[in-house]
Amino acid sequence: MLQTETTTPAVRTPTAAAEEPFIFCENLVKIYKVADLEAVALQGLDLQIQRGELMAIIGNSGSGKSTLLNILGGLDRPSAGRVTVGGRDLLKMSEAQLVRYKREVVGFVWQQTARNMLPYLTAIENVELPLVISGRFGRAERLWARELLEVVGLADRTRHKLSELSGGEQQRVAIAIGLANRPPLLLADEPTGSVDTRTAATIFDMFRQIRDQYGTTIIIVTHDPKVMSKVDRVVAIRDGKTSTETIRRVAIDMADFAHGNIVLGETHDEFVVLDGAGRLQIPREYLEKLSIRKKVRLELEGDQIIIRSVSSEEEQEAASDEEKDTRHRRWGFR
Ligand code: ADP
Ligand code: MG
Repeated sequence: MLQTETTTPAVRTPTAAAEEPFIFCENLVKIYKVADLEAVALQGLDLQIQRGELMAIIGNSGSGKSTLLNILGGLDRPSAGRVTVGGRDLLKMSEAQLVRYKREVVGFVWQQTARNMLPYLTAIENVELPLVISGRFGRAERLWARELLEVVGLADRTRHKLSELSGGEQQRVAIAIGLANRPPLLLADEPTGSVDTRTAATIFDMFRQIRDQYGTTIIIVTHDPKVMSKVDRVVAIRDGKTSTETIRRVAIDMADFAHGNIVLGETHDEFVVLDGAGRLQIPREYLEKLSIRKKVRLELEGDQIIIRSVSSEEEQEAASDEEKDTRHRRWGFR
């Protein structure tokens, strides 16, 4: 069963309201203009992410996931709405501020490993490169680059050229590169898109370890349904808006606890996101099951709101009433 919830933290939990979210998106809009056509990639997206959260974004191809990540990473500017990261307003930043933001606040991991690194350098040289570019490179940075390769399980591969590493190993180097400048935010766009399932699971575990060790806020865009058991929260995006979110809870099985055993169970709570204007997205399969198209009946019954399908005759009648209505309005009869 789906439950509804508003996106305001005040409603979700009383404690979250006091704590300003690290990432705050409100009514975020991104329109791409290609020749004379406009593509609305984000259509009023609301999202809040707490500092140190490990979360995943899922959604069909073209739903706006990369657009959102590029905006959060300062690679693209939104068309309208609000977006702040750690109190910085990304809409108001100057070009110079944006350059600093990209260097100091965010790290990126891309699906195409070629985008992350240089093939003719060794693993360690690739991790050191962003530090050299930032103009601070000494003994501490050298140790830090080594530590990062250890964190991603490549301590014995530091001197290997990238061409001598497997795809999964290259992707782990990419994660170390993304963390080189110690960014508080790590963005990963389909980081497991080109690796096998086992490697994908290892990479997801690595993200968790990094979050636990360095407190990094991590957002992973993925198609992998198994991500659910690896992150704190999964937010689904549909047509440029957040549609549902699933929160993982680890609970102690009290029945077993009474028998002296501690058994940790995992449950997933799925919520439908309600935006500031009261709109929610009904899952497509529900609409199809009840043949719901353009109109529904909404009824308040006690503490429940019921959405009922209307018969096709009723829908047609409503449509023709609407037509009459617009005609009347056009002629000023009202
Ligand atoms: P996803 O990552 O979820 O597959 P994207 O964010 O890449 O989706 O794209 C969302 C929509 O915006 C798509 O319709 C896509 O065609 C369009 N789009 C993305 N980037 C551009 C661009 N640079 N120029 C024009 N349209 C774009
Ligand atoms: Mg994408």
